[in-house]
Amino acid sequence: MIIKPSIRSNFFTNSHPLGCRQNVYNQVLEAKSFQNFEGPKNVLIIGGSSGYGLASRIALAFGANSNTLNVSFESAPKAKKTGSSGWWNNIYFQEFAKETKNLHKDFVGDAFSQEMKDNVIDYAKKHMGKFDLVIYSLASGGRLNYATNEIIKSHIKTIGEEAKGKTIDILDLEVKELVVTSATEQEVKDTVYVMGGSDWHDWIDTLDQNDLLNPGAKTISYTYVGGPTTEKIYRGGTVGKAKEDLERHAVLMNEMMKNKYDGEALISSSKAVATKASVYIPSMTNYISCLYDVMDRYGVHESILKHKYRLFRDMIYGNKRIVDSQKRIRLDHLEMDEKIQYETVHMMHTISNEDLLNLKGTKMFLKDIYQINGFEFDNINYEEDVDIDALSELHPE
Ligand code: NAD
Repeated sequence: MIIKPSIRSNFFTNSHPLGCRQNVYNQVLEAKSFQNFEGPKNVLIIGGSSGYGLASRIALAFGANSNTLNVSFESAPKAKKTGSSGWWNNIYFQEFAKETKNLHKDFVGDAFSQEMKDNVIDYAKKHMGKFDLVIYSLASGGRLNYATNEIIKSHIKTIGEEAKGKTIDILDLEVKELVVTSATEQEVKDTVYVMGGSDWHDWIDTLDQNDLLNPGAKTISYTYVGGPTTEKIYRGGTVGKAKEDLERHAVLMNEMMKNKYDGEALISSSKAVATKASVYIPSMTNYISCLYDVMDRYGVHESILKHKYRLFRDMIYGNKRIVDSQKRIRLDHLEMDEKIQYETVHMMHTISNEDLLNLKGTKMFLKDIYQINGFEFDNINYEEDVDIDALSELHPE
């Protein structure tokens, strides 16, 4: 099969296995180029197949010699379908992680289900032991309510007035207007159900009840705070409500983790990066493009891997934590620096559509979007036939 990017409404419907391999390999090489650090022995990552979860997994497996257990939701290749990027990322993570000689396990399925929690518990009891760190890095458009058998969807909407903003059409390479309508009360509730903290809390309670947390155990999830340009649609919108809920659950869990394990439940605000969701949020694509441009110019742009490596080495297991008044770890302090914010916002408001498309930051953003799906790596011949069946024999089980 010859695999070219297939993009529908700014969404990649396919992935290139060898490009996904390259994406994982580049992150592994980057992790190996940094100094090792003392970190957790056993790590559970919920949502560890792509984005921030995968970067966390690679940082800990190669930087701290950790064992890792990943839970992620993927589509396997089937007939003419290539399979999701996370499917291939899991396979290639396993390939590269062999050299660590540690235990790395993947569970593919629904993290929201009790069945998945039971599978992880069973495996940990038999093969891995108790966890020292649980990372909750899940991003999902929906969650099945197992009690009612209803699929609840999350929404990217405002609360109150609708919001307009620009977005970059990644297929046509055009700047377009995007309008986001205001959510109903039910849509806010649904988004909180999917993207809030209740499932994270369930995971921690289940591990606690099964005596699977070590003394000193930590758990962490990732939020986004951002500034005034993204306020209306992000923090002030449905996703912001879900993040408030996530942060509230961290406070509740922290009490239990501290009292029972001398541990912690943490929230880290991470930098805005290119992901599948960013193209749907008005102003987010041009915000990230301008941000990348400004941060690159000041020499503070970080890759997704470096960002997470710094989180664990310096802030979670090191002594360089930056914490705000709500006790959130501010890994995003470079993005939120006054000078960086001022220049980013100024650029967003003054740049023409044409100049935006030609900006170095936009090219970096677009490259990231393509590369997380396995495309646009210079050393991969995209005209070459890919034997998906042969590659699938490396199934992560
Ligand atoms: P992503 O889409 O790259 O990864 C999401 C992960 O969740 C994948 O591993 C996927 O398989 C898994 N997943 C989704 N549904 C699942 C299910 N039902 N069962 C099991 N696994 C499931 O997302 P990301 O951008 O890395 O986001 C991760 C977290 O980081 C989110 O909480 C997000 O809000 C937060 N965050 C993202 C940014 C950003 O700019 N991307 C910034 C700050 C914080």
